[in-house]
Parts: sequence; structure tokens; C-alpha cells
Amino acid sequence: MKPSEELEAIAKQQGCCVEDLKFAQHMDSIDPIRPLRQDFHYPKMKDVKNTDLSIVNGEEDCVYFCGNSLGLCPKKTKEYMDIEIDKWSKIGVQGHTNGDLAWAHCDERIDKDMAKIVGGKEGEVAVMNGLTVNLHLLLISFYQPTKERHKILCEGKAFPSDHYAFESQIKLHGYDPATSLRLLEPREGEFTLRTEDIVKTIEEEGESIAVICLSGLQYYTGQYFDIPTITQAGQKQGCYVGWDLAHAAGNLPLYLHDWGVDFACWCSYKYLCGSAGTLAGFFLHDKYRNNNFPKLLGWWGHNMDTRFQMDNVMDLSPGAYGYRISNPPGFLCVPIKASLEVYNKTSMTELRTKSKLLTGYLEMLIKKQYGREETNNASTTGVYIDIFTPSDPEQRGAQLSLSFSICIQTVFKELEKRGVVCDKRYPRVIRVSPVPIYCSFQDVHRFMKYLYDSIQAAKDSTLKNDLYIPKGEDQL
Ligand SMILES: *Cc1c(COP(=O)(O)O)cnc(C)c1O
Repeated sequence: MKPSEELEAIAKQQGCCVEDLKFAQHMDSIDPIRPLRQDFHYPKMKDVKNTDLSIVNGEEDCVYFCGNSLGLCPKKTKEYMDIEIDKWSKIGVQGHTNGDLAWAHCDERIDKDMAKIVGGKEGEVAVMNGLTVNLHLLLISFYQPTKERHKILCEGKAFPSDHYAFESQIKLHGYDPATSLRLLEPREGEFTLRTEDIVKTIEEEGESIAVICLSGLQYYTGQYFDIPTITQAGQKQGCYVGWDLAHAAGNLPLYLHDWGVDFACWCSYKYLCGSAGTLAGFFLHDKYRNNNFPKLLGWWGHNMDTRFQMDNVMDLSPGAYGYRISNPPGFLCVPIKASLEVYNKTSMTELRTKSKLLTGYLEMLIKKQYGREETNNASTTGVYIDIFTPSDPEQRGAQLSLSFSICIQTVFKELEKRGVVCDKRYPRVIRVSPVPIYCSFQDVHRFMKYLYDSIQAAKDSTLKNDLYIPKGEDQL
């Protein structure tokens, strides 16, 4: 059953319609993971910037729909951080080997829980560096271009950091991005990539492709790619296939080992709530446990047993651990530990079940009120919203990318006044992400009210000209 049908059925049972507050309250009351919101600091209206406290209650929670950019702070973070600061204060260097998060092993205290999030087996996952750094380290191993096989295949609108990583790796090997970076573009008039088209490109050009590296979930469109199908198609052509899972990790269940993915990396600060710029995830499939790929080495890749003999003879750890370079920062492991403890109270499948309903709920309310088809071109506000994230729940995660028929400049300011925290891209796109681990159905309901009020306020505003999208800037 589609989420919208399931929601309509529940509403009918309750004798109300999905637009009613009562319905949102009911959905929250039957949500088995509702209590997890209490494990996070959910920002208040009065604290987030640009809120107008003459129109909203400062003591109320804001509407935090930006967890795809930065996850909220787990409450345990402060307590655990204090423990580490105390330890440093009291015992200095002995902190390396003492305490639950003994610094010399702090990454190893969290990487098993991290492996669960992405479906990695023991030894396949490490937690280290930043995301783009890990992408570079993996490309150094997997991208070994030859005259025949020199391309990297990626999305045309890949996240900039990934695009730059690909370009610079290509140049590092003396190749030209103009001919070696192969960009996938959607069909004319479409916004997302079709799996069949990606597979076709791989079949046609596979022999010249060294590495395929897409994002698991596209940061801008919210499209979730068919990872197993694309991975298989690439490997069949002799390509290595890796994934940037920045927007997928902690968003939906992943089975990297079972899918046979060659490599993957992701950050821990979006859905995973590990704090801004914190340590990132690194996955290397077991089949490469004892590889001879080129790689950059440091002392932390050395086997623990012999690491401190300091004899300068490398005894490399197998698997992902062999890619560790520097000693890990204990303080950056703290919020990840706090967050993964909350994730351990549930499972990615349970989160996904809620997420499909929560995002499906948001989608159906937007369509009912602002959809061109659903309103027969007669939206009460005169404003239309097209959702360019796939409507198939299997092809998306928590995020919806909204394209407004008007310029959103004033609408966005009005949303901010009402404590809605989300992401904008002028002239017309807003991305919203009701993250299932701490967002509620009532958040979606409140968002819809604030959205309506913001659109009305924008239309009443003296800055009406702001509503028009300048010619030539009409693209998404
Ligand atoms: C968020 C994000 C990044 C950010 O990279 P950092 O190295 O963490 O700054 C890179 N790639 C993708 C696809 C992202 O979504």
C-alpha cells in the first residue's frame, strides 16, 4: 500500500481527515519511536534565528526540517564530553588507555555501531577523517586509470566536493576531466536519473570506465538510487563501484556488504547527528581485506599489537583499519557515540517504516493544497508547488525537494519568522526533511500551517515584485 493510502485509511478509521490536527496527533500517539525525540535537543522558537515572537510562541519547538544538512544534538553529548574533558584534566596522557572512550581506541568504540547503520561486516568500516578526505583515500586505491579505462562516472549535478575530488584525482593521474569525467544527465524535461539510463550508459561505455561513484541519495533532488542494480551493472563491466552515502547513512537501511559494494564513504553530521564536520565513515568490502592497492599510509594503519614498537617496518592492519592514518580525536567521537546510542534503541528498518509515512504525509498534504493536478489548477493561494523528488517512496528517503511557482525570497523569510528551519535555493527551491528519529507528524502539520501563512504574508507584502522569478533564472 502506498503511504498516502495507508494514511487515508487510518484517518477514515479515526473519523477524521488527514488535514486535521487530530489526525497528526493520532499518528504521533501510535508512533513506537516517538520517545526518541526526547533524546535530542529540539531547538525552541525563541532560540533559532530570525523568528518573530509576535507571531509564534517562543517556548514552542521550532519546525526542524534541516536534518539532511545538520542533525540535532543528542542530549547525552554534553555529559559524555564532560567525562572526556575531566579525564584530560585529571590524567592527561593516561586518557589514551583509560575510560570507556579511551582515546587510542575511541574510533573502535563506535565503528561497530556505525557498521550496523550501513550494513557493513566487522573490519569493513572505519570512522575517520572527513567525508571528502575519505573519498580521496578510496579513489587513490580504486582509481588507477589506464589509456583504455580512465573514466570516472558520476552524476552531472554531483555534490561540488565530490565533483572536485573526481576532477582533481583525474588530473593527478595526468588525465583530462573533459574526457575522463563522465557526467550522467537526466532526460530532457526530467529532473532525476532513470536506473535504466544509468545501466545503459554503463553497458555502452563500461570498458572505458574505471570507477563509478554516485551518491546513494542525491542531495538536491532527494532521489535514492538503486544501489544493488547499479553496483552489479558496473562490476559486470569490470568497473569498481563506490558510493557517497552522505545523505543515505542514517536515512534508510543499507546493506553494503550484501550488495557487494566495492567502497563507500559518508559523513556523520547529517542524518547521523554526530556534530558539524565530525569524523566520517569509510567502507571497504571484505573482498579487498588484504589488497595491494596503492594507498596513503600513516602509523594508525599499523597493527595495534606492534604499532608502538616504532621500528618503521609497516605491519598493515587488514581491511578498513589499514587506511587509518592519524590517531583519532576522542572529542569528535563523543557526539557520534551519543547519537549511535539513540540509533541503537531502534533500527534502520523501524526508522524507515516511520519515515515513509512521515514523508508520505508531508507529500500528500503539499499535493492536496498546492499540487497543479490535485487542485485542478486552482490552488487557493494561487501558488503551486511541484515536488521533484521521486514520488515512489522506494526511490527517496526523508527529504522532499519543492519547487515553487513563485520566487521564494519572501516566503522563506516568512517561514523563518515562524521558526521553520529548512534549506533554500533561490529563486524557487526549498528542501525539507522530516527526519524520523526526532520529527513528528505534528511537525508536518505545523509546517503546513506556517507554509500557508508564509505564502499569504508574502502575497500581502509590499515587496510583491519579489514573487516574480526573473527571466533566465527560471531553472531549478
Ligand atoms: C554533505 C556532503 C559532502 C560534504 O563533504 P565534507 O567533506 O563532509 O565537507 C560531500 N558530498 C556529499 C554528497 C554531501 O552530501
